[in-house]
Amino acid sequence: ARKPIIVGNWKMNKTIAETTAFVNAVDGKVSDKADWGIATPFTDLQAAKAAKNLIVAAEDMHWADHGAFTGNVSAAMLKELGVEWTIIGHSERRQMFGETDETVNAKIKQAIKNDIRVIVCVGESEAQYDAGETKDVVKNQTVAAFKDVEAADAAEIVIAYEPIWAIGTGKTATNEIAEDVCGYIRSVVKDLYGEDTAEKVRIQYGGSVKPEGLKALLEQPDIDGALVGGASLKEESYLAMVAAL
Ligand code: 13P
Repeated sequence: ARKPIIVGNWKMNKTIAETTAFVNAVDGKVSDKADWGIATPFTDLQAAKAAKNLIVAAEDMHWADHGAFTGNVSAAMLKELGVEWTIIGHSERRQMFGETDETVNAKIKQAIKNDIRVIVCVGESEAQYDAGETKDVVKNQTVAAFKDVEAADAAEIVIAYEPIWAIGTGKTATNEIAEDVCGYIRSVVKDLYGEDTAEKVRIQYGGSVKPEGLKALLEQPDIDGALVGGASLKEESYLAMVAAL
């Protein structure tokens, strides 16, 4: 069985002081029913690493070892902080910061080379959803993300299915839709790597996840966790997710 993985994606929220307060309130209270984590702004990572029980992830990293990439952060810089995870390809980066399927793939390969675990995000826009293109979109994004990634590495990657129309809108996909798409993504992984890898890969749902809905979401056979924005920010709300399992 796959252990659920629930990660709060803080986006551009929280200062160092707020991060420390969060870790102090939450780190001692997570359960072993899931892997629990937070993805934080680069400036908060060092403070977040004070946590003993939480996975700490960056929200992005660059594909190059170093160089003239103003504003970016490398794998080596994350490793020096002890950061072992990163999100790659969040829809906000794809929509607002020029992230493409090619840069997502390059970043994933750089993360693997540096022993950094990846949460790769896929998901369709509202227009694509309305046009019935959801499965084509997530298939293309998944195939592109895993290009030239070996099976043993692929099995360690977490895929987050985040329909863009459900992010920050309060409009969450029904569990049926989320399961249908997450099951489809698993079948795409199976076509790429075979059954063993497909059964190992953990697939999260993200998009307006709330503590109340978490348990039923995780009961879906192909949903192995959640990537949570807004509901991960307040300590009480995060702990309500812990209590919900
Ligand atoms: P919300 O939970 O705020 O909808 O954000 C989802 C998300 O984008 C997580 O990466």
